[in-house]
This record gives sequence, structure tokens and C-alpha cells, in this order.
Amino acid sequence: METALWHPFSDMAMVRGEEFVLERGEDVWVYDAAGNRYLDATASLWYANAGHGRAEIADAAAEQMRTLAGYSIFGDFANEPARALADRLAGLAPMPGAKVFLTTGGGEAIDSAVKIARRYHVAQGRPERVHVISRTNSYHGTNGIGTGVAGIEANRTGFGEYLPSSSRVAYDSVDALRDEIRRVGPERVAAFLVEPVIGAGGVLAPPEGYLRGVADVCREYGVLLIADAVICGFGRLGTWFGVERWGVEPDLVTFAKGVTSGYLPLGGVVVHGRVAEPFWDRPGTTLRHGATYSGHPACCAAALANLDILERDNLIERGRLLESELAAALQPLSGHSLVCEVRAGVGLLAAVELRPDLLDRLPSAVSDLSLLVRQQGVLTRTLGKGLAVSPPLTIQGAQIDEIARAITAGLDELA
Ligand code: PLP
Repeated sequence: METALWHPFSDMAMVRGEEFVLERGEDVWVYDAAGNRYLDATASLWYANAGHGRAEIADAAAEQMRTLAGYSIFGDFANEPARALADRLAGLAPMPGAKVFLTTGGGEAIDSAVKIARRYHVAQGRPERVHVISRTNSYHGTNGIGTGVAGIEANRTGFGEYLPSSSRVAYDSVDALRDEIRRVGPERVAAFLVEPVIGAGGVLAPPEGYLRGVADVCREYGVLLIADAVICGFGRLGTWFGVERWGVEPDLVTFAKGVTSGYLPLGGVVVHGRVAEPFWDRPGTTLRHGATYSGHPACCAAALANLDILERDNLIERGRLLESELAAALQPLSGHSLVCEVRAGVGLLAAVELRPDLLDRLPSAVSDLSLLVRQQGVLTRTLGKGLAVSPPLTIQGAQIDEIARAITAGLDELA
């Protein structure tokens, strides 16, 4: 039956009256209203890292709601879950003296990070540093700044200009970043945004030496490096914030999704002590930015309970332990007549990309395939040119094989 619910990123003319309604979840499984069971091969939208149905997280949030459901942290107001979460994340972050700015999700974290970067430069007497550089294929959410810097062009076009002083460089080239900084003028560049592994833009791991290289270029020109760990954090790449794998020390890290495993909305920015310093040490240097639900106690309580689980069940390391198993299971699909490439092997995420001639001939091929795979009892996420796989970190070997089997069956049926 049709409802008034408008779905994000969805062709409502097709979806209306045809919704796929899910009712409950347990570990890697979700169930629809008819009781059919599906293997959640994408952890919803890359976020259910601890798996579904964790009563401990629900209990922690409910207990906090009964005690103090919500209260703002503007000015000197605070609550214990927000204080504890900030300290815990700062302690885990790959940069010294970190401070944590909390948001309600990843897109708001991106906008916050860029605004913090620009205000940092103002506080350092360099107000002309406003330009932001991002990468082709990048996805940084759909808030104003995230839309302005989007590397997936379809997400930027048709909305007007959100961030006039911004540009994009090839996602895999350190030289392209250096050239662009020189073209714009280093004295005008505020920040460079980088997803450690590009997610929505196609699951693209960085070439050898890329992250180290761009970190060095940023340092050389005084450009702040913002690592967008919204997908890559909390175990997806086998570390807390993804970037640690490459030994890089970013200036700011954005996070969301896995921080609560999606049980409640929460995100934020971890800020290097050096970048936070003017705001923390100089009275009058106020960041006039923030949102009503920043530091929401119930969301923070859910995050703390989720971090307890990730730690207790050793789930962070599993992102790395399972990466070769996932790659080994999916790699044979690259021999399928409809597939041009399987990208896997860095973290518990992968993409199966369809051949360009198929996409030209059958524009609906990706969504058709995801429906066929769903009919096999496995949920995947559609990308521009293929399917993404990023299961909960609790997934077992036989379930990884089941994902490969279902995608193969879907491809065979599409062929
Ligand atoms: N950054 C990255 C890398 C993302 O993948 C996403 C969402 O998928 C975002 C930012 C935006 O996060 P949110 O959807 O919570 O606003």
C-alpha cells in the first residue's frame, strides 16, 4: 500500500506502492514483514558493524532516555555520555591531543570539518584560505558543503553552486593534488578531503603510497588534511578510523555510521590538538557552528555501548582478518561474462562492477541485478556501475560464500 514516505536517492515514481518493508534484524540477518530472511551483505548503508538486534545497545539508549533523554551541550552544558564518548574517541584517534566535535551524522560532520578548517585558518591570520579540494568519485554526504565538493558529479549537478571555492582532482594521483594546490595558490587552499577507501563512488582503494603522498603534500603547503572515515571507521578497514592502516596523521577525521552501528544517528569530527588549539586556548575564538542534537545523551549512550561490543568481541580487527576471505570468495566473479572487475582486498568491503557495454545496453542492469540477488536472499547496495558488499563485522565464512553464491546466481539470471 502506498504511503507518503519519500525515500532518499530514490525514483519515487518507481518505488511508490512497491516498498520493501523490513521488520526486524538479528546479527547479519534481517526479516521482512512476511517473515522472509535476508543476509544483510551491506550492513544496511555500510553501518551495522556490530550486527543487528544487539539488546545491549538498545538497553543503554533506553536507560539514558529514562534518565535524561536529551539536553543540548551549547555553552557550558554537558552530559556524561557525551563527555565519555568524546574522551574515548579522542583516545583512539591517530592524532595527539585530539578534541571531538559531535554531530548527528556524516554529512553534518563533513560540513563541520570544513567550517572548522576555514575558521582555523582565520584564527591563524590566514582568512584567504577558503578553497577546498576533493577527489573525483568521492562522496561526502548531501549537506551544503558535501554537495558542493561531491566527486560523484550527478550528486552535485542541478542544485546550484554550494561551495564556489572548491575543485576536484583525480582520485588516484598525488601529483594532481600538488598541481591543483599550485594552480589555486597554496595561500588560498584550506583543506583536502580524502576517503581512505572511496565507498559510494565505487569502492576504490588508494594506490600504493597515495595517502602518505597526499599527507606530505598537504603538510608542505599548509593545507589541512581531512580524512573522511564515515564508512572506513570502526573496523571496516580493520582499524578505528581507517587511516591508521597507512600510518598517516590527519588534521581532522570525520566519522558516523559504525560509531553507533546505526542504532541511533550520530557522527562527528575528531580534530588534531594543534588545530583545536586556537579555539580551546584563546578566549573569544568561538566556533559559531553546531546543531541542536550535538552530544545528544541517548545517541552517545548507544555509541558507548556499541564501542564496548566492538572492543569486547574483537570486531575491529575482523575488518582486516576477513578481507582476504571476502576477496577470495568474490574474485571468481570477475570471470563472469557480465562483470568487468571485482574490487576487494582492503577491509571488509568490495564492489562487483558490470561491463560498460551491458550498462549501455541495459541502463537498469545494476538495479535489476540487486533485485535478482535479493530474490536469492541476499541484500547488496547498488553503486553507479555495480554492487557493493560490506557486511557486518560479525559475518562468518559460510555467509561470505553465500553472498558470492547469490551474486553469481543473480548474474546468471541477468545474462
Ligand atoms: N562521507 C562518506 C564517506 C559517506 O559514505 C557518507 C554516507 O554514506 C557521508 C559522508 C554522509 O553521511 P550521512 O549519510 O550520515 O550524512
